[in-house]
Amino acid sequence: MKNEIEGLLSNFIAKEKHKAWEQQYALSQVVVEKANINIVTCGSCGSVMLHSCDAEKIECPHCGFSGEPCDFPDLYHSRSLEDFEVTINNK
Ligand SMILES: [Zn+2]
Repeated sequence: MKNEIEGLLSNFIAKEKHKAWEQQYALSQVVVEKANINIVTCGSCGSVMLHSCDAEKIECPHCGFSGEPCDFPDLYHSRSLEDFEVTINNK
């Protein structure tokens, strides 16, 4: 019985986190579509930054790292529900 409740709670938390994440992803896509600006993280220092979707070379304003768009992963990308599954009472 306890494990069943923990399972339901874990599933509920995962669904809520997944929903919140996908909402952020959807909003970030609106920025890309309307402003042609991508929200990314620096591949070197991990800081969040913006860049034009047309940029071929990007330089991080935080650490000075310079690279191609593939060196700067999107801050939000679509993720599966399984990514958010948590274990309750995991000691
Ligand atoms: Zn950086």
